[in-house]
Amino acid sequence: MLSRKALSITPSPTLAIDAKAKQLKSEGIDVIGFGAGEPDFDTPDHIKEAAIKAIAGGFTKYTPVAGSLDLQQAICRKLLEDNGLSYQPAEIVVSNGAKHSLTNIFAALLNPGDQVIIPAPYWVSYSEIVKLNDGVPVIVQTQKKNSFKLTRQELLGALTEKTKAILINSPNNPTGQVYTREELEAVADVAVSHNLYVISDEIYEKLIYGNFAHVSIASLNEKIKDLTIVVNGVSKTYSMTGWRIGYTASRREIAQIMSSVQSHATSNPNSIAQKAALAAITGSQQCVAEMRTAFAKRRDYLVQQIASIPGLSCIEPTGAFYVLMDTSSLLGRNFLDKQLTDSAKFAELLLEHFQVAVVPGISFAAPTYVRLSYTVSMEQLVKGMERIASFVRALS
Ligand code: PMP
Ligand code: GLU
Repeated sequence: MLSRKALSITPSPTLAIDAKAKQLKSEGIDVIGFGAGEPDFDTPDHIKEAAIKAIAGGFTKYTPVAGSLDLQQAICRKLLEDNGLSYQPAEIVVSNGAKHSLTNIFAALLNPGDQVIIPAPYWVSYSEIVKLNDGVPVIVQTQKKNSFKLTRQELLGALTEKTKAILINSPNNPTGQVYTREELEAVADVAVSHNLYVISDEIYEKLIYGNFAHVSIASLNEKIKDLTIVVNGVSKTYSMTGWRIGYTASRREIAQIMSSVQSHATSNPNSIAQKAALAAITGSQQCVAEMRTAFAKRRDYLVQQIASIPGLSCIEPTGAFYVLMDTSSLLGRNFLDKQLTDSAKFAELLLEHFQVAVVPGISFAAPTYVRLSYTVSMEQLVKGMERIASFVRALS
């Protein structure tokens, strides 16, 4: 028998839907891909140029396992300036994407049976990465009335003597919600009083709209900073999904263990991509502002369109580039002779008959929702929403 642990993992549904949409496109089918959370913008030129320069200059060899010192230093400066967090380069581990950072974190923290609290709806990979590292994901359902944010009571109710860590993702994938300072303080209080680690996935921190501001839970006080492992990366902020650079900031002891794990798994992240990430973090942030403005426009349009389609609704997202669309009042209805039994059926029929790819909420522990990623042009967005409206109109 192959590894029981590996067999217990579900392949990434977000990547699977993306692959399917891309395949249909390559066959000439006009698919609107609201599936994967991958910015549609090209990586900015100054970042690409830094990579070309790295190749031409021979920066093509192994670097230190946890990343080059110049990149670690740049990340420290970023964390100080943007997040009010003071770290030393030895507390930074650069990895092959934030997904890899999360893998290192759980490898470093967990013993068999240790529980990790994951507020739902949650990003598909958290539970699987925890399981791959012998942990037990404890999924805590958050409430729509609280904008899907974990409350003190919900957190306290989920604690057991096996609880090792709490995962916080703000801005959130898939809900698009952003935690306020007060909401984070409640989580931090519980973490500190029960001595629990906090994994704070801040990969969408630069994609916040309206009056919300990003707060890193680690910045609340020294005690919570000590218990927190901050995760971030360049994939979303700089449209660099393919470059595979993510990083963590944590206590030195945890950084050393993660670096040791990484030294055997992958060694350093790609040296050329490190130079590109350095240019991204230290260069002009104008490109980020431009992409954020475009995302904000799309978000406004999407929210307004969803509200105009009878039977669909959503909570306005304030961050990231996702909308969780509530399909509950349409479930049970029929498209031709097929019943919309759940949101997976909704997604399947929408793709098959109207060529729009969305991710069924079941993947995020939000079974009556589907997730739309507004990482497509405004033109595609308009077309996609027209198709969704036609689909809903066709239901009996
Ligand atoms: N965290 C969240 C919440 C995400 O949505 C993603 C999406 N890929 C990641 C981490 C991982 O990003 P990457 O590995 O591309 O850096
Ligand atoms: N994180 C993105 C998403 O949720 C990209 C795909 C993935 O890594 O899951 O769609």
